[in-house]
Amino acid sequence: MVATTAAFDGLACVDCDERFSVAEATGRCPACGGILDPQYDLSAVGLTREELAGRPFDTMWRYEELLPFPRERAVTLDEGATPLVECPELAEAWGLGRVLIKDEGRNPTGSFKDRGATAAVTAAREVGASDVVLASAGNAGQAAAAYAARADLDCHVFLPSRADFVNKAMVNVHGADLTVVGGRIGDAGAAMEDALDEHEHEDWHPVQTFVTPYRHDGKKTMLYETVEAMEFEVPDAVVYPTGGGVGLVGMHKGATELRELGLIDELPSMVVAQSEDCAPIVSAYEAGRDRHEPWATPDTVCGGIEIPDPGASPLVLDAVRESGGTAVATGDDAILDAGVEVARATGAEMGATCAAAASGARRLAAEDELGEDDTVVLLNTAAGSKSADLLRSHLMGQGT
Ligand SMILES: *Cc1c(COP(=O)(O)O)cnc(C)c1O
Ligand SMILES: [Zn+2]
Repeated sequence: MVATTAAFDGLACVDCDERFSVAEATGRCPACGGILDPQYDLSAVGLTREELAGRPFDTMWRYEELLPFPRERAVTLDEGATPLVECPELAEAWGLGRVLIKDEGRNPTGSFKDRGATAAVTAAREVGASDVVLASAGNAGQAAAAYAARADLDCHVFLPSRADFVNKAMVNVHGADLTVVGGRIGDAGAAMEDALDEHEHEDWHPVQTFVTPYRHDGKKTMLYETVEAMEFEVPDAVVYPTGGGVGLVGMHKGATELRELGLIDELPSMVVAQSEDCAPIVSAYEAGRDRHEPWATPDTVCGGIEIPDPGASPLVLDAVRESGGTAVATGDDAILDAGVEVARATGAEMGATCAAAASGARRLAAEDELGEDDTVVLLNTAAGSKSADLLRSHLMGQGT
């Protein structure tokens, strides 16, 4: 019997509205193939600011009423509860009111993918899965391998050869079954599909981006923590290095839940930051479209956001428009410059992919889209030391 929390109200398909229980659907909608989204009866949740303030800031499971599974059932490594670091140096340099870095590098495997992995692997264990499977650009594979090890499940990870060395190495170290596929994320995804078809691995439980219903739901806790750290003030903009958009969709969902609970009045503007060398969502946003067109020649050093065909782009674009946000792309050089600038000005270590958020915010400030009255939160989705090689070689390219 699957244990769920009191307010959890099933998985709803974003396309056909059908509802399923946790045991009935483990991936996409069985009726139409749409994305499933965990639902909650928020009238059954009596969370107040005082109640939350009284709880230790320990893991993301401190919000268990707003998650599908009770904390005592979670496959957890104490992920989440990351700091929101004030960066007055950046605010001053860029002409913004406040700049804060939500430092997701402090997670167990060094990235925010841990929040999705804890939720998705908990679901897998609840339904009695023996194996989990995913294709990933890197960090999600590492996180899944760690949480599968924690849950004593077998884990199958498909990574492109371009994935960071640390990701491939740690997937091995955690004892997962690693397939490295020549090429990029799309090639890794195709290899996974082939393996599933060929071997009829029906028992392999998917923990893939927007296949499992739980990764974006787990990542919404980044927004809860941000707002709580700001004493329930709402930032003007949350800038997010966007690949598939799981974190952005999750954070927007989190904000709408807090508003419905009466804990905040307004939604923060969600801002998509991408690299000019793979910017399908920025391009759709600028053209006023509701969904992306696949990016023909992805070629950015920001591996975490090199997602040329983000299937959930309609959800991302909805979240951006509904929250009054925007979308911005900057070049790889500017992105790596911003990563170095953050490290030097603030001491905070920002991953190369995440530096797209810093670079995007800097661009929006320069264009007066953000200004002196604005409080801006940058998501540092992974530890800077994971991409030390990229940041360092950028300096070498400049002769230092
Ligand atoms: C996965 C990843 C992203 C993008 O996440 P999406 O939710 O797919 O948009 C951004 N930064 C890093 C470091 C990542 O690993
Ligand atoms: Zn459906």
